[in-house]
Amino acid sequence: MPFSKPITFRTFLTAPIEAETLMPPRQAGVYVVTRKEWDGGGNPPENDVVYVGRTTALLYRTIVLVTDAIGFTGQGKGSANSYYHSGGHNIWEAWKEKRLSRDPRTLYLSWNTDCCEACEEIKLYEQCRKNECFVGVATPPRCNISGHPIGSGK
Ligand SMILES: [Zn+2]
Repeated sequence: MPFSKPITFRTFLTAPIEAETLMPPRQAGVYVVTRKEWDGGGNPPENDVVYVGRTTALLYRTIVLVTDAIGFTGQGKGSANSYYHSGGHNIWEAWKEKRLSRDPRTLYLSWNTDCCEACEEIKLYEQCRKNECFVGVATPPRCNISGHPIGSGK
């Protein structure tokens, strides 16, 4: 289950200019936000995940995540005030309230397209939900594919 080499939000925002290879693909996948750099490839560091999500469209969802997270979002409290991505809004709010010490531009984004998105998301969610830096996400639904490690009913 290889995660991409993490890049900062700041690098992400310049990816179309710097290198197209830095951009997430348009396909389905899981994405994570961490405070610290890590090598990618394996699993993200459990105690440092700020956010985890899954999508059918990685490029679009990560663009709107980063947009909300750097402050192009409603200034009201609560993810209902997000413009496009509630997790991005939660990151912005956590930083504004000093619950997250890292400037959102310095957070790291990584993604994985080579996994069952449902299984990977719920696994990472279960690992990370008690982290002090985790900004919160609704409990993801369990995978409903028979035979998967985190299938329904387990
Ligand atoms: Zn699965």
